[in-house]
Amino acid sequence: MTSPPVVRFAPSPTGYLHVGGAHSALANWMFARRHGGRFLLRIEDTDTERNRPDLLDGVLDMLRWLGLDWDGEPVHQSDCVGDHRAAADALLASGDAYWCDCSPEQVQARAKERGGPPGYDGHCRDRGLAEGAGPLRFRVPPGTTAWTDLVRGEVSFDNATIEDFVLLRSNGTPMFLLANAVDDAAMGVTHVIRGEDHVNGTPKYLLILRALGRTEPTAFAHMPLLVNESRKKLSKRRDDVSVASYRDEGFLPEAMVNYLSLLGWGPPDGVEVRPIAEIVDLYDLADVNPSPAFFDRKKLLHVNGEWIRGLALDDFLARARPFLPGDDAAAALAALGPLVQERVRLLSEVADMVDFLWMDEPPVDDAAWDKVMVRGKAAPEMLDASTAELTALEGWTADGISAAVERAAITAGFTKPDGSPQMAKAPAPVRVATTGRSVGPPLWESLAALGRDRTLARLAAARVRLAG
Ligand code: GLU
Ligand code: ZN
Repeated sequence: MTSPPVVRFAPSPTGYLHVGGAHSALANWMFARRHGGRFLLRIEDTDTERNRPDLLDGVLDMLRWLGLDWDGEPVHQSDCVGDHRAAADALLASGDAYWCDCSPEQVQARAKERGGPPGYDGHCRDRGLAEGAGPLRFRVPPGTTAWTDLVRGEVSFDNATIEDFVLLRSNGTPMFLLANAVDDAAMGVTHVIRGEDHVNGTPKYLLILRALGRTEPTAFAHMPLLVNESRKKLSKRRDDVSVASYRDEGFLPEAMVNYLSLLGWGPPDGVEVRPIAEIVDLYDLADVNPSPAFFDRKKLLHVNGEWIRGLALDDFLARARPFLPGDDAAAALAALGPLVQERVRLLSEVADMVDFLWMDEPPVDDAAWDKVMVRGKAAPEMLDASTAELTALEGWTADGISAAVERAAITAGFTKPDGSPQMAKAPAPVRVATTGRSVGPPLWESLAALGRDRTLARLAAARVRLAG
């Protein structure tokens, strides 16, 4: 690359940052960082009906959270409307644009009569209408419009398939395509990296810049569509699409950008879970698969679990803190820290792992109670035997507790043919009685942290409840 590239992310603040938007933003950011270029931000806020200025902060916050730092101040498209109008005037002067007074109904009726595809037929091309009649349209020339797409290869459109599209609405406001192309040229954008939903707009974008005689981007990269497990485009109604909702669930930003980078791409050495700085060096848009990419929540959870396990303990505790109800819970987590860290895939799972430690009573999971205490084998016997062994136990360590519960298992009849304790199921009643749940951190360490008094009190309470 001769001069450093300039790329941009151009969100329309009409909603929250979508994972698809984050995917494109990340590709832009990585491209700029890899090639020593600039990553700019342009806020496409000219659609006054759909634009929600109050949502912009949320979008910027999510980019910051993901670590996608941009260069310079964001450009607001609404500040550039003068340029869009000037471009429209230039196109009008050169004969590349003309005014049209057809109503949508007329356009439709003529298309129906023609029997061809719907769309505008160029009716007003040579009528020489004056401004004020209706929208300004672009006069699409014959020929083909082609570009180099780093993801899709050479893409070309027959101009005959492109209608004379609208540049300015009847009220004089610029349409998206005009503003988008003119602003890119003004900002010196060299590589347009964006979602595949913009492929069909790209020939129009290029026709505008070519008619204006302005420098067009060197290349485009249209990133794959993100789809759900039914191969359908991710949708707000069906799927979790807001980046903020992933943050709120306890995904780490490192895991999020790591996973987003894997949508439509994989590292040559197959090592998928790794820091984004390494991915920046490996990521090549030419290797991105243009077909729709499955946004796989299970894989994202797996990547997140790996990232959680990789955190330094202090960092893990600090990041889990906002997901805990208070200082008691934080202290409880600190007591079992590494054991919990190994077992969660989401920071929001942490609270359930340690609540038994800070709550006065264990939180009773009814399904676990029914399965283990009511329908399970020998629960009363196991509780009684454990109570006896743990009462008599000297000291209170995880190892001592483990040995005591093994002896209790033999007393309660959980034995293998050779007489040794069968520990697959035996501890379950003890776990449910003391922690309320059938899964959690390792039991011996959990009871060691809980303390003898509370352990025995909970065993006794469960025994009463079981008898009642
Ligand atoms: N504002 C457009 C969008 O949100 C940006 C299109 C582009 O990146 O060129 O889809
Ligand atoms: Zn017309």
